[in-house]
Amino acid sequence: MTDVEHAQLAPFTTFGVSAVCERLITVGTVDELREALRRYPDARILGGGSNILVTQNVEHPVIRVALRGIALDDLRVTAAAGERWHDLVTWCVDQDLGGLENLALIPGTVGAAPMQNIGAYGVEQEQCFVQLTAVHRQTLEEVVFTKDQCHFGYRTSIFKEEARDQYVITSVTCQLTDHPHRLHTSYKDVAEELLQHHAPLTIRDVYEAVVAIRRRKLPDPAEIGNAGSFFKNPVVDAETFSRIHSQHPEVPSYPQADGTVKLPAAWLIDQCGWKGARHGAAGVHDRQALVLVNHGGATGAEILSLALEIRSSVQAHFDVELHPEVNIW
Ligand SMILES: Cc1cc2nc3c(=O)[nH]c(=O)nc-3n(C[C@H](O)[C@H](O)[C@H](O)COP(=O)(O)OP(=O)(O)OC[C@H]3O[C@@H](n4cnc5c(N)ncnc54)[C@H](O)[C@@H]3O)c2cc1C
Repeated sequence: MTDVEHAQLAPFTTFGVSAVCERLITVGTVDELREALRRYPDARILGGGSNILVTQNVEHPVIRVALRGIALDDLRVTAAAGERWHDLVTWCVDQDLGGLENLALIPGTVGAAPMQNIGAYGVEQEQCFVQLTAVHRQTLEEVVFTKDQCHFGYRTSIFKEEARDQYVITSVTCQLTDHPHRLHTSYKDVAEELLQHHAPLTIRDVYEAVVAIRRRKLPDPAEIGNAGSFFKNPVVDAETFSRIHSQHPEVPSYPQADGTVKLPAAWLIDQCGWKGARHGAAGVHDRQALVLVNHGGATGAEILSLALEIRSSVQAHFDVELHPEVNIW
């Protein structure tokens, strides 16, 4: 365990904004995590910092979860919370085991993945999720959450809602498959990327397709600070959708089973003219309207202020409310 007072958080978040926390404690085992929580019960929890915008100095201790280890039992893989998610995906593909390949190259740690039920290219983590272990912040006991108990939804789980700030996730178990015919390749970008491949497709083909798409389309935080999609895609009722559709027949839409319709936040933001906009060093990516970026030296408050302006403008144009996917500190 390391414990550093007045630590700079910029190197530990992908937005790379400057902010100091009261102290930064890095834990490598469950016992160290328990000890850190006992000493600092009000600590904030940090994984890879790829879904956090720090808007001011943090007047709390911050515990960085760095537990390591990956183990396979039959077709179930269990990874410690501090493993990099993409390393876990790659490890599984290297064993020729499928299930996670569509989620390749998502930044961050294994422990944060269930928080918002990470998803990409037609797959969400819940589809292969078996269970997780987590330490309760008050009792310090390690408990198991089954899939049903996690209440997964679109970019959410019990850990963002009812059980918010109550647990620290220590490991995640996923169900894998050795049957390549269970590949998910119908998502448009993936299908197009795989066009030149001849059947039979392998797990690695899908993994490499997703990596290639992401490298081409998404800004790399190592080059320009960002946290991926800043807002969630809004889900609107049928009446709202038909109003927007009558004014913009070209609006992309994803009908949901309950009659509501999911709209791409990127399209709404783009229609309001934000793509490539820049307010000082805070900006909107010039190819991905949903990604806010730090061009260098932006403060978290500046990025948040830009996000609020974007939200107001989408509200004014479409009467649709955007909600941040990124956690604001
Ligand atoms: C370029 C880019 C692309 C991205 N693409 C996607 C994508 O395709 N799909 C997607 O879903 N997301 C995407 N994201 C968002 C992000 O990668 C994921 O949300 C990721 O799971 C965050 O992991 P992290 O370890 O960085 O979490 P952090 O940012 O460190 O933390 C996120 C939240 O989880 C909490 N937390 C972290 N670890 C734990 C733990 N062990 N126990 C309890 N709470 C914890 C934190 O307190 C915080 O509230 C992208 C981000 C970037 C920068």
